[in-house]
Amino acid sequence: MAEALRDCSRLCIHTITTKPWSLKECIEEYTRADVPGITVWRDVLQPLGADVAGQMLRDAGLEVVSLCRGGFFPAETEAARGEAIDDNRRAIDEAAAVGAPLVVLVSGAVPGMPLGEARVFIEEGIAAVLPHAEAAGVKLGIEPLHPMYADSRSAVNTMTQANDIVESLNHPLVGVTVDVYHLWWDPNLQREIRRAGGRIISFHVCDWLSPTRDMLNDRGLMGEGCIDIRQIRAWVEGAGFNGYIEVEIFSNELWCMNQRVYLERIKEAFLKSV
Ligand code: ZN
Repeated sequence: MAEALRDCSRLCIHTITTKPWSLKECIEEYTRADVPGITVWRDVLQPLGADVAGQMLRDAGLEVVSLCRGGFFPAETEAARGEAIDDNRRAIDEAAAVGAPLVVLVSGAVPGMPLGEARVFIEEGIAAVLPHAEAAGVKLGIEPLHPMYADSRSAVNTMTQANDIVESLNHPLVGVTVDVYHLWWDPNLQREIRRAGGRIISFHVCDWLSPTRDMLNDRGLMGEGCIDIRQIRAWVEGAGFNGYIEVEIFSNELWCMNQRVYLERIKEAFLKSV
C-alpha cells in the first residue's frame, strides 16, 4: 500500500473540476492556492485562443499536465471520421501551444455501431494523427471509460482494451491514461496496470458515489465514495508512474458551491484519501 501524500507537489486540477471558473480564474486561483499542475480543457481555451492561453499559463508558472480532450474517432461516414481526425490534429496543435505534453483521448462510440467496429476506427484514427503528434512532440493518452459510457462516449472500456490498442500501435507517443472512476471495478485492473508499465502516461482521480444520481455529473471528491484510490495509486506507481495526480471531478453539486472553498476541500481530500 502506498503512503499518504505528504504535500500537494503532485497535485494537478482539471479546469472542468472548477467549471464555473474561466481559464484566467483557474490560473489565478490555483496559483493562489499553491496548486502546481493544471490540465486544460479545450472549452476554456475558446474565448482566448490557445496562443494567448499558453502565454498566460507560462507567465503564471503553472505546469500544464494535459490537454483534454481529443478522440471521438468512430463515425458512420468516412467524411465524419475525417473531420474527427482533423479535430484531433487541432487538439494536438492546441496542446503544443499551451505547453501540454499530452492530449487525453476519449476514444468515442456511436449508438448502434458494434463496439468491435468502433475500436477499429479508434485505432485507425489514432494511427492517422500520429505523424502530426510526432511533428508536435505531443503524446496521446488512451483513457478507457466506464462501460456505462460504451453507447456514445467510448468503446474502450477496460485497461485490457486500451493496452491491446497501445501494443498494436506500438509507438512511443501512445500510452494509457488511468482514471480510477472508470476502472476501479475491473477484476483485471492490477494485472493490466502491470502490463501497461511505463506506458501509463497520466493518472486521474475522483470517487464513485453510492448511490450515483447522474451518470455524468455526480462524481465525488476523493474519500467520499467507494474507490480504494490509494490501492490503485500503489499499483500505478508500482508500474513506474510517478507523475502528477490529476483531480477530475464532474459534479453538479460541487460546481454550485463556492469554488474557493471547494479548492481547499480538494487539497484536503488529496492529502487524506489519495
Ligand atoms: Zn479522466
